[in-house]
Amino acid sequence: MRDTNPTVPFMDLNAVNARHGQALQQAANRVIGSGWYVGGTEVSEFEQAFAHYCGVQQCVGTGNGLDALTLILKAWLAQGRLQLGDEVLVPANSFIASALAVTASGLNLKLLDPNPHSFNITAQQVENALTQRTKVVMTVHLYGQLADIQALQQLCQARGLLLIEDAAQAHGAHINGQRAGSWGDAAAFSFYPAKNLGALGDGGAVVSSDSNLIHLVRQLGNYGSDEKYHHPLLGVNSRLDALQAAFLQVRLPYLDQDNSHRQQIAQDYLQQIHNPHVQLPTAATQPTAHVWHIFALTSRYRQQLQQHLTQQGIATGIHYPLPIHRQVAYLTQADLKQAPTATNLVLPISERLAAEQLSLPISPVQSDQQTQQVIAAVNSFCPVGKPKSGKPKSGKP
Ligand SMILES: *Cc1c(COP(=O)(O)O)cnc(C)c1O
Repeated sequence: MRDTNPTVPFMDLNAVNARHGQALQQAANRVIGSGWYVGGTEVSEFEQAFAHYCGVQQCVGTGNGLDALTLILKAWLAQGRLQLGDEVLVPANSFIASALAVTASGLNLKLLDPNPHSFNITAQQVENALTQRTKVVMTVHLYGQLADIQALQQLCQARGLLLIEDAAQAHGAHINGQRAGSWGDAAAFSFYPAKNLGALGDGGAVVSSDSNLIHLVRQLGNYGSDEKYHHPLLGVNSRLDALQAAFLQVRLPYLDQDNSHRQQIAQDYLQQIHNPHVQLPTAATQPTAHVWHIFALTSRYRQQLQQHLTQQGIATGIHYPLPIHRQVAYLTQADLKQAPTATNLVLPISERLAAEQLSLPISPVQSDQQTQQVIAAVNSFCPVGKPKSGKPKSGKP
């Protein structure tokens, strides 16, 4: 019997990993039998493979992506390249982890509005926001698209600023072979299960060609120690499990293939979705520069569109419904309260995106038939009434 209304899940993680069921089982058995569960050769082998994949000298596994970002900033503090209170520029429409890493490191957060078409910050926007106190630019390759990376790299070099890439959504994205993670002074990745390269639990990594930085990150993530029971630094415990490293070794060789599949779906969406009530994301100038972790369209009728798609059996997501500067946690931050400059609190593009953004399903296991179902459903959407006003609710009561 043919299902006339099959569902399209947002991301079928079970199906993603079922493709490698046997290899994952074998990896698990190998680790269980090894008697070595945190760090060790499984981890160092994956670190080498991932550094090589990204085109950087070194990689160090961490407990998750947030820790990877935080440890980079703390290592720069330990190196004396940053001082407490230095300012870090971060896009306001990112996932909150980008900002939390700055705050957790005792640095000053300055949120920027992104470019409304790429959803990423540009070198020009960074240039306009620079002050004497700005020491770091955190570029987030949001939704899988490399930010304005060549121009940002040039700007940071010219101004003596540190460039950190939050590459948690962009594993494998590249311009002429130069991959996400190899542009900045250091980059952070997440291997959260739903990312383009996902583990079966939490995991993350720092990549860089600065071996002193990598050494410090490793030390800081291991209780501030590089010799057992000797602790020159105030560290934390944030390391990659052997089990997760073994799983990641299974998935890494398929990352490019998985990304190509996502790119194909995105191309189908971009070419075949035609609806005047829906704005499609702009295609990357180079197709390889976008690995489509998320396919984000915008619509002034977002809520109705989402309901329409749900009725058609299509799951969607919103990334993200509340920009960072409207999160309750940040409304009480002294830095945002005491210096309510225009760029800190009035971020109209981030607010509009939070109100209008809708993510369509996209994954390495999505079939052509499912993609066609999504396209047909979006094309058949016809709103009733006037659009909702574009302001997201503030998190503040
Ligand atoms: C997922 C994500 C993170 C955090 O990674 P975790 O492993 O979940 O801690 C950071 N930044 C961005 C942009 C992310 O999407």
